[in-house]
Amino acid sequence: MTELRYLDSHLHLTDPRFNGIREAILLRAREAGVVKMFCNATREEDWRQTLALASASIVPFIGIHPWYCSTVERDWERRLAEILQTTTCGIGETGLDKKCAGDMVRQIETFTAQLQLAVAFRRPLTVHCLGCWGKLLEILELQTKTAPLPPIMIHSFGGSQEIMRRLVRLGCLLSFSARLAAPGQEALRQVFQETPMPHILLETDAPDQLQTGINPGTPEPSATNEPAYIVALYGFAANLHHMELQDFCSQIWQNGTVFTDSTLPR
Ligand SMILES: [Zn+2]
Repeated sequence: MTELRYLDSHLHLTDPRFNGIREAILLRAREAGVVKMFCNATREEDWRQTLALASASIVPFIGIHPWYCSTVERDWERRLAEILQTTTCGIGETGLDKKCAGDMVRQIETFTAQLQLAVAFRRPLTVHCLGCWGKLLEILELQTKTAPLPPIMIHSFGGSQEIMRRLVRLGCLLSFSARLAAPGQEALRQVFQETPMPHILLETDAPDQLQTGINPGTPEPSATNEPAYIVALYGFAANLHHMELQDFCSQIWQNGTVFTDSTLPR
């Protein structure tokens, strides 16, 4: 049997909770077969560190998370554009979040600026969306009137069937976290089962979203989530889609390749 290759489509390897254990975590990921990870920055201060992690198995994404959009330094868009000119990274994590302190006008401006850069540079865009589906869909649908959308992934998707369908129609990929396996998430599991396979990705969102139901106990006292734990989610998700694990893995791998292909030099 060929060895399975796992992709973790969203995590934060520069998070300070990984300081001192980062190498051990990456080693455990490799040993578990997690050989591709999409590593996201959240604010300008972690762009350099995120870019420095780039390797055959780590694809960096740099951007401004909605939680940090009120603390951006002037001209951040120009600096992001300059980096995009000389590197092949993706853009993210960006998005809209109803629950965070940053005011919504600022969030929309910051998100739209990153969407525009993703359009201009044809880069994959990682989007966080909490409670702002109407606004997100409005922005994306408006964008299609002037230029085709860049490759877009909605990370840790938690929307309804209807939102899933509209995002799929726009060509977006939906990345599901271990919340899929959590108690009380029947509606999300149903949405997942109805999501067409070419639009699915899976993520840990490590070091966040540790789900004790599906993740094994962590050997570290800090009890963080980590990329190696994605393996259990693949098994769970393949089952929900009534697929053999091997076929499921190769489809997700292909989806991830389609998503990031635009980072290849053309
Ligand atoms: Zn994240």
